[in-house]
Amino acid sequence: MGANWAGAVECQQAGTGENSSALASLGGIYNGLAMHFGFTPAQNAFRQEIRDFLAREMPTGWRGRHFIWMTDDEWRVAREFDRKLGKQGWLALTWPKEYGGQQRGPMEQAIFLEEMGYNRAPNSGGWAHGPVFVGPTIMHYGSAEMKAEHIPPISRGDLLWCQGFSEPIAGSDLAALETSAERDGDDYVVNGMKHLIGMGQRADWCILAARTDTHVPKHKGVSLFLVDMRSPGVRVELMPTLPKYGTQTRIFFKQVRVPKSRLLGEENHGFYQMMTTMDLERNRIMFAADAARTVDDLVAYARQHKAAPLLRHRLAERRIEASTAILLNYRIAWIQEQGRIPTAEASIGKLFSEELRKRVSATGIEMIGLMGQLSYEEALAPNNGGWCDHYLGMVSSTIVGGASEVQRNIIAQRGLGLPR
Ligand SMILES: Cc1cc2nc3c(=O)[nH]c(=O)nc-3n(C[C@H](O)[C@H](O)[C@H](O)COP(=O)(O)OP(=O)(O)OC[C@H]3O[C@@H](n4cnc5c(N)ncnc54)[C@H](O)[C@@H]3O)c2cc1C
Repeated sequence: MGANWAGAVECQQAGTGENSSALASLGGIYNGLAMHFGFTPAQNAFRQEIRDFLAREMPTGWRGRHFIWMTDDEWRVAREFDRKLGKQGWLALTWPKEYGGQQRGPMEQAIFLEEMGYNRAPNSGGWAHGPVFVGPTIMHYGSAEMKAEHIPPISRGDLLWCQGFSEPIAGSDLAALETSAERDGDDYVVNGMKHLIGMGQRADWCILAARTDTHVPKHKGVSLFLVDMRSPGVRVELMPTLPKYGTQTRIFFKQVRVPKSRLLGEENHGFYQMMTTMDLERNRIMFAADAARTVDDLVAYARQHKAAPLLRHRLAERRIEASTAILLNYRIAWIQEQGRIPTAEASIGKLFSEELRKRVSATGIEMIGLMGQLSYEEALAPNNGGWCDHYLGMVSSTIVGGASEVQRNIIAQRGLGLPR
């Protein structure tokens, strides 16, 4: 077992607190056999605080859809919820107090995301994009002025961010991007196009990757910028996708002037900064918890409607996998708590959680049969069409944030030390 994998065992926390929500439901089966991955009493109290809040504040009739395929009405409800989370101080859990943060650790952040994911709390993208990866990247590389300007609105849930990295020829190979940013006096002038950008039409700001030097190897000529989406020359178009209310967009930049004060970190160091952002994005505990919840919902359905023996076995397998996915993501939080940036471990969590969500939604459709294909617009659709929604949404889950093949490459190279 290589050094990179040691966290799996060390991840056990001191204390004898209760197990996580997801593990708790397995307690009956594994009593006496399972290792106990406990949380501290303070962490358990925090989890309870979140659950109490959700019991009080969840909007009535909320159907729990992911932000990239929400209707405009659902999105507005989710925006209100963001601000409530902001008031609780939960959008800035790990940041210093002077930026509106609570100075808690990555474990508390993971607990928060697990509870939000398991309970399908409204998520406008406000707390998935801003606090989870744009904010930490600004905290890491941004100037004091940049932090003072951008971190407090993120922590209040006031502003929405999108991530403008991908282009038609630069997806897995991000360093190949062609959008350019040329220096002109006190500004950079941006030209180019980004595509498949989640929430582009709703975002106030974009963390943008653009080429600032064409005379060096491709990964050494990229920089990151914070771009106001209201800048003249920015145009957003929706890209039709599989889920009906998909919000993937193309963003066009034509002679967009970005003040040099909005360069994030050092010029031409953007590729390395992007990799950090991607590692932060790859903590998928929210989605692992979503998989656990979907399996639990399927189990409840199977109890009511007699499930065939083979499908019962599938459900048992999926539940074990969901618990494993949650633990893999807690390992990422533990590594962050040691002050390290998880790389191979983040890819392991991402790969396992997203492949699992796909398997879970396929199990659901298989188990429910023809009725599982009914969309929520059909009155007879079981689970208000949730199984159908989930299935369609999951097709892209193994692509977003770096495709599964790319994660396997990272695990092979950085985790197992295999050659490229
Ligand atoms: C729902 C959704 C939301 C997204 N949101 C955003 C967003 O907000 N911001 C943003 O910037 N981007 C976003 N993306 C884009 C996403 O990051 C890219 O789609 C992803 O990185 C893959 O790039 P690609 O689509 O260009 O595929 P390609 O890179 O062209 O890959 C095509 C296929 O080849 C495989 N492949 C590529 N390279 C290798 C390799 N080296 N080894 C083995 N196999 C390989 C891939 O795994 C894939 O199966 C989103 C995508 C989706 C689907």
